[in-house]
Amino acid sequence: MPSSSVHRLALVLGDQLSFDLPSLQALDPTTDAVLLAEVAAETDYVPHHPQKIALIFSAMRHFAKALRQRGYCVHYVSLEDPDNSGSLPGELQRWSERLTAREVHVTECGEWRLEQALKSSGLPIHWHADTRFLCRRDEFAAWAAGKRQLRMEFFYRQMRQRSGLLMNGDGMPVGGAWNFDAENRQTLPAGVSAPSPQRFVHDAITQEVLALVGRRFAHHYGSLEAFDYPVTHAEAEALWQHFVEQSLPAFGDYQDAMATGQPFLFHARISAALNIGLLDLRRLCADVEAAYWAGRVPLNAAEGFIRQLIGWREYVRGIYWLHMPEYAGLNAFGNTRALPEFYWTGQTRMKCMSQAIGQTLEYAYAHHIQRLMVTGNFALLAGIAPQQVCDWYLAVYLDAFDWVELPNTLGMVMHADGGYLGSKPYCASGQYIKRMSDYCRSCAYKVTESTGEQACPFNALYWHFLMRHRDRLGGNHRLAMVYKNLDRQPEAKQQALWARGQALLARLDAGEAL
Ligand code: FAD
Ligand code: SF4
Repeated sequence: MPSSSVHRLALVLGDQLSFDLPSLQALDPTTDAVLLAEVAAETDYVPHHPQKIALIFSAMRHFAKALRQRGYCVHYVSLEDPDNSGSLPGELQRWSERLTAREVHVTECGEWRLEQALKSSGLPIHWHADTRFLCRRDEFAAWAAGKRQLRMEFFYRQMRQRSGLLMNGDGMPVGGAWNFDAENRQTLPAGVSAPSPQRFVHDAITQEVLALVGRRFAHHYGSLEAFDYPVTHAEAEALWQHFVEQSLPAFGDYQDAMATGQPFLFHARISAALNIGLLDLRRLCADVEAAYWAGRVPLNAAEGFIRQLIGWREYVRGIYWLHMPEYAGLNAFGNTRALPEFYWTGQTRMKCMSQAIGQTLEYAYAHHIQRLMVTGNFALLAGIAPQQVCDWYLAVYLDAFDWVELPNTLGMVMHADGGYLGSKPYCASGQYIKRMSDYCRSCAYKVTESTGEQACPFNALYWHFLMRHRDRLGGNHRLAMVYKNLDRQPEAKQQALWARGQALLARLDAGEAL
């Protein structure tokens, strides 16, 4: 055996930076080795926001350093290494040959695309289930078997029972109800503002990465300047503690609120750190539950937060692995319209859109309701091709990985799976945005109007969407009242709404910003 030979080689991906990763657990640090590689195939398949690339590279470099401190033999390939093959299968092949590794270990990937590429590389990989999630892929498949439609609420109840989180001893949920969604919809009162965000200092590693990303990815949309996210486990922990103490108590009340110039409100900003392995899901849930039992946070906050983590997050992952690759191609409404250019620039007179897109370009962040009810809602109403919408969400958000981005965008936002993930489209007129934000007060459009040049585009587009998809949606009992309201409108009004919708869509087709 050559002196550089290792028994086992574990490939650790950029979103697998957890010390208890199963493929790492399989190693003996005295005889085995770890490989981490920055590769062009992963940075270039969509134009990722520069902050997302910076986060992953910096976190990978810090993780490699921490593993070495724990006694692991780590091989790290930087993006500009002249021998870099440019792809993860290529690097795994190169290093397993170079080290004459007897076994290659990988924890299952977050993206179907990459897992297929590794599987078709011909390398004899030992695959490990990703234990960082509560529900294994096969467990979700067993739960979904035989169901024509899936509902998050029933999956969530099962996860609560299984985890015991916020459960009474008698098997019933704390507070007597499974969810307190209705108590998560308060608007932000005047004068209330969110706590200042936790800040982070850039050490030498991060500075080096920021310089690299600035040099190589200046042509990608989004600014690098405001980068201020945790890149180590310790920093992620600081962000988490800051959230639990400062924001969690109000998280439940203002979960759906939006406010001008307040990009983060009472949200945790932990999704990226969690998705790349700097935080542990079970720990987060235990902390939230403990804060509830200690009387530090109300039930609507604790339950609301835990629902997102063990409900929505696990649910969308389950759907992804159950239905890829077919899921990515679904387009139930047959949309073909191109994504408007203003999604990449924020240059639009619609205040809600310019706020949501503007903060996305600046921070690679928008909270759930901005993604769902502003940028997502507009794409749904305007009939944008779902695959273009998905590519946009995958590119611009710091936390975007296919397993979580795709079902949220294609299923929840675009309803492109025909109602498999959610029972009705999350379509709404400008009235919803007016109720949940202060955006409309300073918008160039009038939210109280539906027709005419000054009318809020969301209003006519909402009715146009319902009219043009009556065949598919007219029988949905959750939309029965909405269609009743539409049919009560005088014929002339309905025609005017249709005409205004057509005119707006024609302007989008002509490449105009609204
Ligand atoms: P908080 O509002 O503080 O919520 C706490 C945590 O709950 C989040 O960190 C996240 O881990 C989890 N969570 C909440 N909602 C969801 C959800 N619907 N699906 C999965 N996890 C959820 N989340 C991603 O992590 N990556 C994505 O690529 C992503 N794409 C999305 C695309 C669309 C169109 C929509 C509507 C939502 C998407 N989400 C995605 C979910 C959600 O918007 C983000 O997780 C959240 O905004 C992250 O910010 P936060 O950490 O401040 O979250
Ligand atoms: Fe958005 Fe319409 Fe309100 Fe303007 S008026 S902020 S476009 S909802």
